[in-house]
Amino acid sequence: MAVLTHLQRGLPSILKRDVIIGAAIPLPKTALVASRNQYLGSALLDDLERHDVPQAERVVGVIDADAFAPGLNFIFGQAKLPGRYAVVALPRFRDSFGGRPENVARFQDRALKETVHELGHTFGFEHCPNRKCVMHFSNSLGDTDYKDAQFCERERLPE
Ligand SMILES: [Zn+2]
Ligand SMILES: [Zn+2]
Repeated sequence: MAVLTHLQRGLPSILKRDVIIGAAIPLPKTALVASRNQYLGSALLDDLERHDVPQAERVVGVIDADAFAPGLNFIFGQAKLPGRYAVVALPRFRDSFGGRPENVARFQDRALKETVHELGHTFGFEHCPNRKCVMHFSNSLGDTDYKDAQFCERERLPE
């Protein structure tokens, strides 16, 4: 996935950490809720934990399938809290998901921002009132496009 290379290039300067692309793991069938054709975020996180990479400080599962959490029609991503795991679901980052022409740069940019956002949760950051901050909650892609990929002065990454 080209988007993984985009993440690997973009994440280190933001997170002050090295990023490696791990081996692909299959989507867990048990996490699929067939009646809505979406994966349950918490089940994806549990599966990621079963495929743990012990030497990694954090593990992010990037899936090209739609996901949801109870009470939400969909999720862009989810973090296991407390924990070292996050998942990001790509389909809704594509303009083509909403029937518009695809814009690859915008798609990759959204994936980067929401990956930083979910990893931020694993570092203990809550949603930030600063609409430019990556920890601002994205209700829609408009929110994601408006915010930067960076944390603001409220969030302090651990060394
Ligand atoms: Zn969040
Ligand atoms: Zn902030």
